[in-house]
Amino acid sequence: MSQSKRCTVIVGSQWGDEGKGKIVDVLAESVDVVARYQGGANAGHTVHVGSDEFVLHQIPSGILHPARRCLLGNGVVFDPFQFFEELDALAARGIDAEPRVGVSGRAHLLLAYHKMLDRAAEARRGAGKIGTTGRGIGPAYEDKVARQGIRVADLRDPARMEDLLGRAAERVNERLGAFGSDEQVDLHALCDEVLSIRERLLALSVDTGRVLHDALRAGERVLLEGAQGALLDVDHGTYPYVTSSNTTAGGAALGVGIGPTAIDAVVGVVKAYTTRVGEGPLPTEFPSPMQEHVRQLGGEFGATTGRPRRCGWFDAVVVRYAARVNGLTGLAMTKLDVLDTLPELKIAVGYRAGGALLDDFPGDLGLLEEAEPVYESLPGWEKSTADARRWADLPDAAQAYLRRIEALTEVPIQYVSVGTRRDQIIHVQHG
Ligand code: GDP
Repeated sequence: MSQSKRCTVIVGSQWGDEGKGKIVDVLAESVDVVARYQGGANAGHTVHVGSDEFVLHQIPSGILHPARRCLLGNGVVFDPFQFFEELDALAARGIDAEPRVGVSGRAHLLLAYHKMLDRAAEARRGAGKIGTTGRGIGPAYEDKVARQGIRVADLRDPARMEDLLGRAAERVNERLGAFGSDEQVDLHALCDEVLSIRERLLALSVDTGRVLHDALRAGERVLLEGAQGALLDVDHGTYPYVTSSNTTAGGAALGVGIGPTAIDAVVGVVKAYTTRVGEGPLPTEFPSPMQEHVRQLGGEFGATTGRPRRCGWFDAVVVRYAARVNGLTGLAMTKLDVLDTLPELKIAVGYRAGGALLDDFPGDLGLLEEAEPVYESLPGWEKSTADARRWADLPDAAQAYLRRIEALTEVPIQYVSVGTRRDQIIHVQHG
């Protein structure tokens, strides 16, 4: 990252799983603090360091670099049990992360009852299901917006904590009953559970906005790490097939407690093709058997749920839209190597829908469901890119593919990832 860019946002610019974990890991090399700004334990970052594979759900992947401080902002819904499990797993592998992490006192707690509600609500939806990960993210954000959430700072006073938990249990049990679920919250067990992590958690509680403000003032560099992707943003994504938070760059300032003027750069992470998990529109989705072929080539199975991801061609309509909504200053393209064996590649440059040619991503779900992509065809390179470390190492056809994507999205590609390992990255020099 260049010296002048002190606060950079990393944002998924498709439907999530773009490989943000790897890009954050690469960029974390040159920053002092990494902070997550939204989402919860439904984010499943996979990072490969040497022959070790780390799957991190809540802790920013910057933690794998010694001395980086990692924060979870107020915009995150925070699952303390899963979080401590992750910290303990890192400790077991020799990474002493706890002294380097901080959690916003304003972050909302995600507790077992949110997961119960998530499962019960999804079961109730039947065929109309959203395809949630069942991790309680939606219900935790619902509590936040309904002003009945419990925040990390609420644990400081045990009497207040017990009162809030009591009210939550009552409310949740009523709703579980209405959903026809046979699960119920046991208030005593819930209080004991939360008490068991209370002190450990309070010791990590910080004001992330203040910490980041001070860090930036002191000349430190900061990375704000998004989870999921722009097309899953509750406002700008394919509603209602979205997550419950603002995944886009605007959510970054909000979700950690700094002002938007503190942000210098926004890097959009995109895959060299497109994937999405769960239900909802995916205009460039491959037909069978191409679908299964690319899924195998790319190992497209969810890191958190193991669910097979739906795969399709690169959609420039989507990424152009993501570029605009996020104010992208650069792209990081991952998984170029996955396309190495394909003889022909397609890029969607527009959609036909509603009797018209659309060059912008529609907000109307009906239009999106009937959208027929208009494709441009490019030759494949049919060579391995796994060992490319400089732009010039890439085959001509791969360079042409990337240049075409830059032209269509009007965003320069700054990084190209050609494999899972840390060193399999090209830093593209511009101008
Ligand atoms: P995230 O949630 O956006 O971090 O994405 P995931 O971690 O769920 O998925 C990314 C997966 O792709 C992980 O298994 C990564 O190791 C892998 N990955 C990342 N970059 C590359 C790449 O350039 N090539 C290949 N083949 N795999 C990659």
